[in-house]
Amino acid sequence: MEQKRFFLKEADLPKQWYNIQADMVNKPMPLLNPATKQPIKAEDLYPLFAQELSRQELNQTDRWIDIPEKVQEMYRYYRSTPLVRAYGLEKAIGTPANIYFKNESVSPVGSHKLNSALAQAYYCKQEGVTNVTTETGAGQWGAALSYAASLFGLEAAVYQVKISYEQKPYRRSIMQVFGAQVIPSPSMTTRAGKDILTRDPNHQGSLGTAISEAVELARMTPNCKYTLGSVLSHVSLHQTVIGLEAEKQMEMAGEYPDMVIACFGGGSNFGGISFPFMRHKILEGKKTRFIAAEPASCPKLTKGKFEYDFGDETGYTPLLPMFTLGHNFKPANIHAGGLRYHGAGVIVSQLLKDGLMEAVDINQLESFKAGCLFAKAEGIIPAPESCHAIAATIREAIKCKEAGEKKTILFNLSGHGLVDMGAYDQYLAGNLVDYTL
Ligand SMILES: *Cc1c(COP(=O)(O)O)cnc(C)c1O
Repeated sequence: MEQKRFFLKEADLPKQWYNIQADMVNKPMPLLNPATKQPIKAEDLYPLFAQELSRQELNQTDRWIDIPEKVQEMYRYYRSTPLVRAYGLEKAIGTPANIYFKNESVSPVGSHKLNSALAQAYYCKQEGVTNVTTETGAGQWGAALSYAASLFGLEAAVYQVKISYEQKPYRRSIMQVFGAQVIPSPSMTTRAGKDILTRDPNHQGSLGTAISEAVELARMTPNCKYTLGSVLSHVSLHQTVIGLEAEKQMEMAGEYPDMVIACFGGGSNFGGISFPFMRHKILEGKKTRFIAAEPASCPKLTKGKFEYDFGDETGYTPLLPMFTLGHNFKPANIHAGGLRYHGAGVIVSQLLKDGLMEAVDINQLESFKAGCLFAKAEGIIPAPESCHAIAATIREAIKCKEAGEKKTILFNLSGHGLVDMGAYDQYLAGNLVDYTL
């Protein structure tokens, strides 16, 4: 057997993030102020986000953005993450395809989310912020932000979607161990939460409701900024360390991917692994396929509309030009909590419109079946979100088998599922069903 795992030397770790907006022929359309319908400027975002993050959000000119020394130092605690040749999975499928995965589950909090949490906490601290607030679905972003906040001496308040607060108590405990305050959303602590509960006392929460609450708290509290773990362009920017590393690691393996696959919630791990490879498609005409795997119950890319919509339920955010199921969309209670968001980031939305990427939707049962196969073959229990990427990979690997084609597939393992065993229990007991929109 040839080499299985590939790591980079510290000296070869990325020192800059890759900003795909600079290379896009059709730039994302502007974010709009909902009151005036005028394009948003970075200054308009300062009340909400750290200033540097606001500038990164709208930066369409600088291809490379320096990673601050301090953030590079923090990345070295767990990066590079391994690139792994999935010999076990290939054998289990019986495919001629060569399958590789980038293992982001080895980060201290178990998912890719820390790549952006460290950057966001760093810039907040730099700018004299004392408190950060956010929402979390399944709890991975909340855990990452809580840890990053504690590293930089910031207070964190996390609104956790009520259904996952109840289904995933250990993610709450993880955030609390890192010192964060965790509030189930919708809650009575904000006007947005009260309004939602008045209309629907049994509202189980969604990322849209939790975002409204976190944004409101940030607006009402001095020295407090809002942070987000997905969807926004600066979040995908930070996640490009995944793809930049993978590019070098694939080179060490002597390969270049024919397909790059990732699961899709708002687009940050997909953008993170894809964009560095996609620059070769945009600039050099490489033929790589990029496939986003979303849940059939929340299919914004495959069944949503491209239009201006709010990022949250109440309508506090700017209007975003994106593929969306509507900001009032209430997804079914599938276990891949991190994929239950109504919209897609503005960069990926434009890339999909321009045909530079594709999307597939995957049902819950197929995704868990894929996750269990992967676990037995590779020894890692994937996050329910990541199972969607594995299912899409297996579909493509089976096509290769049927066609007798030896393609190279790279997918992102965005996180592990060790805090999601309740979901696996239900799958194994036969209690899960598919919800197709
Ligand atoms: C949050 C999360 C996702 C979905 O978010 P993206 O921004 O689409 O990457 C996927 N996988 C894991 C493990 C997550 O924590």
